[in-house]
Amino acid sequence: MTRISKLLLTILSFLMMLYVLLVISFSQGLETIHSDNFHHKITSIDVSDVVNANAGWEALLFLEGDIVKSELHYFAVLERTDLHLNVVRVKDVFSEMMMFSNMPLLLMVLLAYAIPFYIKSRIARKNNASLDFINNETDKLLASFNIQLPPSKQPNTLSQISIALNELNKHVKAQNIQTQLSIYQDKLTGLIDRHAYLEHLEKQLQRAEEAGTRQALLFIDLDGFKQVNDSFGHSFGDEILIQVAHRLQTVVRNNQLSRVSESFELELNLSRLGGDEFSIFIENIPDNLRAVEVSKNVLQEIERDFVLGNKVIKIGASIGIATFPDSASNPNTLLQMADVAMYRAKTDGRGIFRVYSPEMGSKIRRFHYLLEEMRLAIASQSFTLSFQPIVNVDDCSIDYFESLVRWNHPIEGPISPVEFIPIAEDSNLILELGNWILFEACRQMSAWYNAGMNKVRMSVNISGVQLKHVPIYDWVMDTLTKTGLPPNALLLEITESCLFHASNKIIEDLENLRKQGVLIAIDDFGTGFSSLSTLANLPVDIIKIDKLFIDQATINPKYEKILNSISDLGKTLNLKVVAEGVEVASQFELVKNLGIHCVQGYLISRPESSYDVGSNVIKKNLNHIALTGTGVCTPSK
Ligand code: C2E
Ligand code: MG
Ligand code: MG
Repeated sequence: MTRISKLLLTILSFLMMLYVLLVISFSQGLETIHSDNFHHKITSIDVSDVVNANAGWEALLFLEGDIVKSELHYFAVLERTDLHLNVVRVKDVFSEMMMFSNMPLLLMVLLAYAIPFYIKSRIARKNNASLDFINNETDKLLASFNIQLPPSKQPNTLSQISIALNELNKHVKAQNIQTQLSIYQDKLTGLIDRHAYLEHLEKQLQRAEEAGTRQALLFIDLDGFKQVNDSFGHSFGDEILIQVAHRLQTVVRNNQLSRVSESFELELNLSRLGGDEFSIFIENIPDNLRAVEVSKNVLQEIERDFVLGNKVIKIGASIGIATFPDSASNPNTLLQMADVAMYRAKTDGRGIFRVYSPEMGSKIRRFHYLLEEMRLAIASQSFTLSFQPIVNVDDCSIDYFESLVRWNHPIEGPISPVEFIPIAEDSNLILELGNWILFEACRQMSAWYNAGMNKVRMSVNISGVQLKHVPIYDWVMDTLTKTGLPPNALLLEITESCLFHASNKIIEDLENLRKQGVLIAIDDFGTGFSSLSTLANLPVDIIKIDKLFIDQATINPKYEKILNSISDLGKTLNLKVVAEGVEVASQFELVKNLGIHCVQGYLISRPESSYDVGSNVIKKNLNHIALTGTGVCTPSK
């Protein structure tokens, strides 16, 4: 019911009440008019002067009684004769009756109508006060959020409050998004972080399970990013990461892989997991080909030049692909398996992708297991060194000992350096381990040197990671000083590939070490495909031909020719040539005939502990050592 119809109804009912009251009052008045109180109001009028009012509209008003009208007044007839009427004025009847008998009733009626109005106005006033209060509070809220409202045309509090609430609502929504962003967004690249990505994967995998669909996850790790960071600084590296994120966003869009969050409007299928690791999630793949396609696309994008200021940078990426439900059934494991596959891509040469297979998992578990065990072994000094003599082919006199690290694991038994050195290099544990190796080898050689082996050197294998991270000249000279070993009793073995990629600073350091008397050998020569022209410019004294060539030479004439040309190369460049891995007499004879100077191999001696070297080589040769400054190690029969 509208307000107007309500008002009309109230007025109508009020008028009806009034009418009923009047009618009742009048009939009561007529009954009591005969009392003495009204005698003075009774008059007599001629019948000819009056008009009968009982038939007109007045009859409605005066339901009972005999009413006449004379001139302008109405009269109630008390007595009728033929000529006269005894009458009393209607007005008097009303006024007397209202005054004395119906006044309280009238008042009650009035009150009955007034009270609701009063209550209503009280409520309205109260409401207004509440509205004012709410208005004030919303004003305060607006001020605290620093929200300026446009000037309002209607100062009406309700509409103002509604506008303010609207604004506050918008603001709170925006704040909500901001909070979610600050929790889930990676600050540098603006992509979602690992936490939000895992939450998203959880939902997606659940849906995929219900729908029975296949999904794929790409684990992308940049190749060469660390070098960029090391060479150009972290802000430069940050800029590269931002550009990588943009390129990956393009890949996601172009391949229609996008899924944007409704609440905070971020791409959910692309994440920066941390450092230089990114991940892309591919929904509903019919087969692995789709993931392979996207991976190729990612590699192409990352391999494009990065331009920063006036610098052009080249990096790459290694990608691991894991699929749901084949590789794993939950987000964490899926990510882990893709990581395992990525690691395989790295070890298989970088710049490529690999699809996870269970066989990869056991390798990575072994990797982490050995890494942890190695940490403990370093802390408890559980590594030892063994020493293998390298002898001159002519007289089998010892030219030098190669120190080789040994790890006898309490449960696993001896673990080969072929297995644990790459892990130590990967984790930089080689820095700590290598430090100990150099010190221990120099300390041992210093003792043997002082025992008379002053024409023999000790060789120590130096890893590429050490060359990169340790100031090689200072480190070696410092160790020599600490152990008391003269520089001309030391030899450093560096693999061919490390030496060819060494920076100018490293080459300079090696040159300076040579000036001090330290010799440098290229280890595993022949496996690094180095060019001869660069070899001529490197600071080396010795070439160690890899065992592979020695193995092949006795059965394959081509390899014999290669051995021959390496031997010639040594002569041309005035380098000493050593054959590694000589196991049988025929190999010994062959290398001797090719003019190779020295041999190392089981035929002469296996790597031995310092104790065994002391009792088998030194004690048996004391006189010879005293005369020549070196021992002899003849081939075993
Ligand atoms: P490498 O520097 O080329 O060392 C020579 C390897 O050939 C040694 O293996 C040695 O035991 C083995 N060897 C020598 N003669 C023969 C032979 O006649 N037949 C066979 N089958 N093998 C022979 P080892 O000790 O297992 O070391 C393997 C590799 O591990 C080394 O190759 C070197 O790259 C690395 N390594 C060993 N010790 C150290 C170390 O102290 N520091 C560093 N950075 N790397 C090391
Ligand atoms: Mg070596
Ligand atoms: Mg070698």
